[in-house]
Amino acid sequence: MLLTQKTFPCKQCGASQVFYTKGGILRCEYCKSETKITPPNKKIVEHPFKNITSNVASLPKNKLKCPSCSASFDLDPFKKSSKCPFCKTPIVSNLDLFMPIAIESILPFKISKQQSEKIFKKWIKSLWLAPAKLKTKQNNSFKLVGVYIPYWTFDSFATATYRGLRGKIYHQNINTQVVENGKLVNKRVTLTKTKWTPVSGEVKRAFDDVLIGATKSISRRLTDSLAPWDLQNLLPYDDRYLSGFESEVYQVDLQDSFKFAKDVIRYLITQDIRAQIGGDKQKITYLNVTHSNVTYKHILLPIWHGEFLHDNKKYNFTINARTGKIKGERPYSKIKIFIIVFVVLVLIILITLGSNGRF
Ligand SMILES: [Zn+2]
Ligand SMILES: [Zn+2]
Repeated sequence: MLLTQKTFPCKQCGASQVFYTKGGILRCEYCKSETKITPPNKKIVEHPFKNITSNVASLPKNKLKCPSCSASFDLDPFKKSSKCPFCKTPIVSNLDLFMPIAIESILPFKISKQQSEKIFKKWIKSLWLAPAKLKTKQNNSFKLVGVYIPYWTFDSFATATYRGLRGKIYHQNINTQVVENGKLVNKRVTLTKTKWTPVSGEVKRAFDDVLIGATKSISRRLTDSLAPWDLQNLLPYDDRYLSGFESEVYQVDLQDSFKFAKDVIRYLITQDIRAQIGGDKQKITYLNVTHSNVTYKHILLPIWHGEFLHDNKKYNFTINARTGKIKGERPYSKIKIFIIVFVVLVLIILITLGSNGRF
């Protein structure tokens, strides 16, 4: 197999058509003519997880030749689509076909670049304790790239067996002696205590579509916090959705991603166990989670990835290009935080002095 590339020329003027966020069409960037995308007639199915080799195979050198201007250029090793650096023609390669597991379904871009810019500016303005100059000057300088990120989704029927302790809070009144105004006096005080009882049990839950990002180009903190996604609207994969956008093939394999999924499930099932233990407090001393009927899907999800500069430091942010949800790194204003800490300290001192009868 050879690495090949596709473009999507307009039938009217020959310029490039790109995926248009307002609906399932490709649109010419010059004459605005449209081509409807009819999704391939395939069913999106869950695949059994067992015995799958998904290790990132040895990929071909990611060298492409632009079908429009004939220039050759190198892409990052995991990039499947981009633009020709010379003539800006959108190009989609078949790099995914070199991977053991193919892309099966996709949520196409819905939020446009203009909408994302507005979302970013609104977010910057809303940041609490941000440096004042960030809200004015920085608004004008940021980069924004539309990229399809590879994800795995896992289904699993999880069974957790546990042992632990249920804590019940109770109050006890005792007589004690305390120092008041330099004198020892008798006083009745109420102590808060916890009575612990041993418990054990089993919790079962069917998990559906636990989502794990499979990129290494954006931090997991930013990709995995963009949920929820409208996965019920996944469409069978088609290269045309990628025209005009960047995209990647997976860089974290299925097995490693399932380990992350197991951590997510363990965390969620712990909440179920706490609810089952009941009482006022819970301790879990032993926990074993087993998985059955594990299935997976390999999908692409659309993200606007941006970065802005503040005091010569780069900050990354991501926007869910289906819902507009934004997550980002951000700077804090040291002066604003100092003022708040100072005010709180003064209040604590005043309250302490007041309760000691100094006023
Ligand atoms: Zn055209
Ligand atoms: Zn070109």
